[in-house]
This record gives sequence, C-alpha cells and structure tokens, in this order.
Amino acid sequence: MSRYDALVIGAGYAGAVAARRLAEDGGKKVLVLERRPHVGGNAYDCPDKAGVLIHQYGPHIFHTNDRRVFDYLSRFTGWRRYQHRVIANLPRDNPEVIPVGKTTDGRFFFPVPFNLDSMKAAFGEKEGARLGQKLLDAYPAQSQVTILELRQNPDPEIAAIADYVYGHVFVHYTMKQWGQTPEEIDPATTARVPVRLSTDPRYFQDAYQGMPLEGYTPMFQRMLDHPDITVELGRDALERLELADGAVKLDGEPFTGPVIYTGQADELFSFRFGPLPYRTLDFGFETLERDCFQTHGTVNYTVDEPYTRITEFKHLTGQILPGITTIMKEYSRAYTGAEGEIPYYAIINPENNALYGKYKALAEQYPNLHLLGRLAEYKYYNMDAITAKALELTDRLLEKE
Ligand SMILES: Cc1cc2nc3c(=O)[nH]c(=O)nc-3n(C[C@H](O)[C@H](O)[C@H](O)COP(=O)(O)OP(=O)(O)OC[C@H]3O[C@@H](n4cnc5c(N)ncnc54)[C@H](O)[C@@H]3O)c2cc1C
Repeated sequence: MSRYDALVIGAGYAGAVAARRLAEDGGKKVLVLERRPHVGGNAYDCPDKAGVLIHQYGPHIFHTNDRRVFDYLSRFTGWRRYQHRVIANLPRDNPEVIPVGKTTDGRFFFPVPFNLDSMKAAFGEKEGARLGQKLLDAYPAQSQVTILELRQNPDPEIAAIADYVYGHVFVHYTMKQWGQTPEEIDPATTARVPVRLSTDPRYFQDAYQGMPLEGYTPMFQRMLDHPDITVELGRDALERLELADGAVKLDGEPFTGPVIYTGQADELFSFRFGPLPYRTLDFGFETLERDCFQTHGTVNYTVDEPYTRITEFKHLTGQILPGITTIMKEYSRAYTGAEGEIPYYAIINPENNALYGKYKALAEQYPNLHLLGRLAEYKYYNMDAITAKALELTDRLLEKE
C-alpha cells in the first residue's frame, strides 16, 4: 500500500491546482512528481544571470473573466496591475504614406489587434481616419469586426482593409508560427481575424488582468506548500509508473487512488500509435546594457524577420533595474522529439485529433487515471482555462467521495 492517496504528475497549473485541492479540500496525502528541476510548468519564471526576472518558457500574461479562477489563484499571490499591449513592427511598403507611428529605418508600428489607430499608421492620418469612420458607420453596433465580414462588404474600400490586415498582420506571422503555406492555413482561422472598431490598445479585454506580484514561481510554491503535499522535483513519473490491464502501479505497488497525469498522452503509452505532432519554440535571450529596448512588452514581427516576436520582460514584470534589460526572440519550428525539445503547441486538426482519440481511449481503460492539461489533453489552454479545468475535475473527484 502506498503512503499516498493521490498521485499528480506534473507541477504546472494543472498539477499544482489539482494537488492543492485534493490535499486541502479532500484531505488526501498527495505525491507530486515533476520531471523538471522546478515547479510552475511552462509558466515558470526566475531571475537570469543579470538579475532580470524572465519567463524561461515564453512570456505569460494572466487574464481571465472567470471570477472563481481569479479568486482561487489570488489566495497564493497578489497581482501587479498590467494590461498587455502589443504592436506590430513592419517595413513600410508604401513610401507615399507617412505613417503616424514612430518610424525608424523605414519601419513602422501599429497596435495589434489592428484598430482605428493602426488604420492611421497604415494609411496615413487623414486617410486612416476617413476609412476608420467608414467602418464605424458600416458596423455601428459592433466593438470589432472580422476580416470575413469586411470581405463580404460590397464597398471595395472596406474589403481592401481586410486584405491589408490579412497581408500585414496575419498571414506571415501565422506562417512563421505554424510552418504553413497560405493555402494550408485554415480559412476559418483567417476569417476570425479581428479589426477593433475603437482605439483600445489592450491585447486582452478580460475583467481580470495582471502579473503575479512576485512572479509565477512563488505563486506555485505557495500553492504546493501544504503539509499533505510532497513534491519530488527532477523525477520522471514514467520511470515509476506502470499501466497494465486497467490497473496502475507506482514503484511496483498497486495504486488505486486518483492519478492525475499532466504530461504527454502519447508518451504515457510509449507512443504506441505514433507520436502526436507539435510545434516547439526556440528562445533567443539577450541581455543588453540599457534601461529599455522597446516601447512595449511584446513586439510582433508580422511581415519579416525569422522570429515571430520580441518580448522585453521588464515591461511585463514592472521590475526596476537601471541600465540592464533582457529581451527574448521567439522562433517557432516543428517538434521532432529530440532530447531537450519541449512540445509547446498541439497541432489541432482532424487527423491529429483522431490519433489523440486513440490514446484517450486507452487512458479510459484505467478508471483512476485522469488526463488533465495542455499535453495530456492535446489542447491549447490559457492559464485561466486550465486552472478552471483543474478545479472542475477535482470538484468531480471530491463529490464522488
Ligand atoms: C510560449 C507560450 C506563451 C504562453 N503565454 C500565455 C499567456 O500569456 N497567458 C496564458 O493564459 N497562457 C499562456 N500560455 C499557456 C500556458 O503555458 C498553459 O496554460 C499552461 O502551461 C498549461 O499548464 P499545464 O499544467 O497543462 O502544462 P505545463 O505547464 O506544461 O505543465 C506540465 C508539467 O508536467 C511535467 N511533466 C510532463 N511529463 C512528466 C513526467 N513523465 N513526469 C513528471 N513530470 C512530467 C512537465 O515537466 C511540466 O512541468 C502560453 C504558452 C506558451 C507555450
């Protein structure tokens, strides 16, 4: 008999929230096994060599409309008020137009998502204002309009705005991010690209937005700091877990309590049906001896450059550190499964979903095994969505008792 009542594999959002609830609200002794040398999963942050607080696995900005999620996480952290703003940085392709955005070296900037100010930066102050008014007149009751709606508008000037946004904001960026040709991009995704009918520059419009006051890692450490939770770091659960004939074993002993697995579904079953495809990211960190590198937390390179975006962490974290800053360039490529590579984004399409379905069906043969999280469920989850999912799963598990 194990001395633990529940086993949680992975100490990211899915695992940490589930572990805390099972221990605190379910009175269970919980063992958390985490393969990495730290908690927090992909939301992990830490100071770099220069003392700049960085997000090791890409920039994470918390935002939600879910009050329960916000309240739950707020037990473990205070928040720094932060509203993320993103701009596109792209070459000026029409020298006739003097953009209102600050220009350097023939480049210009505008807010993303594309809005009424972006319109002025793209088409010039007067023309942008005229076209913006045209949109406001055409869609008086809407706060935003999709490029599909714009394309369907009989006014050719309005349809042309859709083409501009497609070419200057969406298509190249999406090709870099997903390694696709324009023909391969799902038309439904293209159709949903928004144009905001306001000058609101905020990237997210959720009711609750911010950054954990001392960073994500301390929030996770507090969540996992409970007398009935044992966290073992640097432990690959798959070396200790056995799944056979509907029964789970931990360290060779039957384990009948809830097992919450937040790692890759294909890896759990030794890639029996083949690997699930993913995109991975390479991060180029650079520490610079200056106060500040760019005007915004994130700048998207929507037309050129091999990287998709540059993040400067000090904007996100609010850290005051004169004379030094760290930026990160983000490059996307196919995940190969090579040692050290991290699968970041599931590639959702019918074929991959069907492959995932096979692994899910296998997992369902184990009544006490629960797949939870972005890897185990082969899904993209924002941090709030996976927190909500972990709360719901543990609600169900605790109700059953
Ligand atoms: C570049 C990037 C930027 C993002 N930005 C945002 C953002 O701004 N806002 C937002 O809301 N969301 C953002 N997200 C999404 C966010 O990262 C996810 O919501 C979150 O990481 C999901 O948590 P998780 O617990 O499911 O997965 P993870 O964080 O990946 O945690 C899973 C954990 O399981 C561990 N594990 C796996 N297999 C094993 C094993 N065999 N044994 C032991 N441990 C194992 C892993 O090491 C990992 O620590 C971003 C994602 C990416 C990739």
